[in-house]
Amino acid sequence: MIVLTNLQMDKILSHAECAYPDECCGLLVGERRVRDVFVREVHQSANRAASPANQFEIDPQLRFDLERRMRQESLDLVGVYHSHPDGGAWPSETDIDRAWESDLVWLIIDVKDGSAVATRAHLLLEPKLRFKETSIEIISN
Ligand SMILES: [Zn+2]
Repeated sequence: MIVLTNLQMDKILSHAECAYPDECCGLLVGERRVRDVFVREVHQSANRAASPANQFEIDPQLRFDLERRMRQESLDLVGVYHSHPDGGAWPSETDIDRAWESDLVWLIIDVKDGSAVATRAHLLLEPKLRFKETSIEIISN
């Protein structure tokens, strides 16, 4: 399960809609308790992919800056989010090929004609880094 506040979810969905027809992407920082993930911060990233319409690549500088602060504040990188312009909310072949780091939740937003229509969360599990869908819980702030 991944737990987000409705403000955090709004931030992600509006990023996905603004980036349309390109993919948006960002990092989720928070805490992990067993298999559950509690998001504390949503960090939008520039999409550094060469073809952002069907790929995403997190800005390495964002990751680098966050790593240092997360260590100081005992927070973890718990997930990554990105959007699929007119592409569904399931991991694409590209996502499966490029999946890295187990235990991260991948939040995928399906954006149709500029509107976010579906969001699904997928947990990347070892071995073999397979995706398994996990539930999303939205709490009020
Ligand atoms: Zn994708």
